[in-house]
Amino acid sequence: MTDLTSMTIAEAKAGLAKKSFTSLELTDAHLAAIEAARVLNAFILETPDQARDMARAVDAKIAKGEGGPLAGIPLGIKDLFATKDVRTTACSKILGNFVPPYESTVTSQLWRDGAVMLGKLNNDEFAMGSSNETSCFGPVVNPWRREGSNTTLVPGGSSGGSASAVAALLCMGATATDTGGSIRQPAAFTATVGVKPTYGRCSRWGIVAFASSLDQAGPIARTTRDAAILMRSMAGHDPKDTTSVDRAVPDYEAAIGKSVKGMKIGIPKEYRLDGMPAEIEKLWSEGAAWLKAAGAELVDVSLPHTKYALPAYYIVAPAEASSNLARYDGVRYGLRVPGRSIGELYENTRAEGFGDEVRRRVMIGTYVLSAGYYDAYYLRAQKVRTLIKKDFEDCFAKGISAILTPATPSAAFGVGEKGGADPVEMYLNDIFTVTVNMAGLPGIAVPAGTDAQGLPLGLQLIGRPFDEETLFSLGEVVEQAAGRFTPQRWW
Ligand code: GLN
Repeated sequence: MTDLTSMTIAEAKAGLAKKSFTSLELTDAHLAAIEAARVLNAFILETPDQARDMARAVDAKIAKGEGGPLAGIPLGIKDLFATKDVRTTACSKILGNFVPPYESTVTSQLWRDGAVMLGKLNNDEFAMGSSNETSCFGPVVNPWRREGSNTTLVPGGSSGGSASAVAALLCMGATATDTGGSIRQPAAFTATVGVKPTYGRCSRWGIVAFASSLDQAGPIARTTRDAAILMRSMAGHDPKDTTSVDRAVPDYEAAIGKSVKGMKIGIPKEYRLDGMPAEIEKLWSEGAAWLKAAGAELVDVSLPHTKYALPAYYIVAPAEASSNLARYDGVRYGLRVPGRSIGELYENTRAEGFGDEVRRRVMIGTYVLSAGYYDAYYLRAQKVRTLIKKDFEDCFAKGISAILTPATPSAAFGVGEKGGADPVEMYLNDIFTVTVNMAGLPGIAVPAGTDAQGLPLGLQLIGRPFDEETLFSLGEVVEQAAGRFTPQRWW
């Protein structure tokens, strides 16, 4: 049955339509793959009974010719998405065994369209991290290894479980979220395709909030086409999220294979960092050459405020996080550690329930929002954010269709290798991705090559607001030129 797990979503859809196999068979094959891959720690909750029930129900519908656009496709769900009657923890001890009585809008749209839920995927605690090492369920293991080495590598984060599971053929696609890079960076580390949609494209309702003005849900898949298929189901207006935008959802798949001839692609000079590895530099010029060969025109552009993006992000994101996380008080959800007074109950619960990185963010956030420092830090970071957004607007106003950059400054690194002494070392992973969240733009990460040790590297394309279609067209060009990359199975 292993071949059932190596298909793309597009191929599986065709197979199901032709009745070559059933959704139950497809689901069973993935459940077996998950069981055999527990060493990766990608799934933190397997829901086999529910998966089989969903698969059987959808098989009955397919038989009647009623299947939706994702009919029978088994998916993994990041544990940040509330799933009705299924434990949802954001991988934090503080949520304990919280079982939501409601379903997130994004996942409910996937089920509406016939997808099957295999289980919940590991992530960094409250999506804070770039390596999936801050989860209370322990780190996720990247299915990729350096050539000739057994070193355990991180899959990136915070959607590390999603990326690892998709790369290791445990699910055909996964939901993920991206606040500063958490879809695109793990996609780059695992040779998967990750899409961070325009802010407002996917509803945030029912997704555990990290930094509400930056958070966006999006898909991780094995091909650009599959990501486009998933996006169509995930996107859409939702009156329950006031920041969700009321715009028709296009048929993203139709953008696959569309000509990119004549498109102007910006190459921003500020993304050429000092000391950038030669391999990243090479990948970037190769990507540019592929787009040129497909008829696009390369244009040097400038995004002058790029260097302020990461510092500004690490003010805005923790500020919003400290406010969002105030609700975890030991009274309403999950963990409760008693105390002699209500104040002590709060303190004990939060001290026990939050991990180190989350506590650091709450402290930074509270500090930058405090009366004496608000103007100096928070307000100034918001002004910088406006300038970053304007850099992109200026660029697009000159007729640029999309911007090409590396997705990450390096390939995947070892568990425990980064950020131990200095958290900024970890934060630097998102140097190329946070700008996109600060500006609310869509971005896609597409596998584009490997480094000298055989590890995958990705390219990022940044688009105009609500122009994900152009990103899918360009992503497909990169994918066709670079080919696809699959880790060698060792687990
Ligand atoms: N790594 C970044 C952070 O830790 C981004 C995380 C994310 O996108 N959720 O904040």
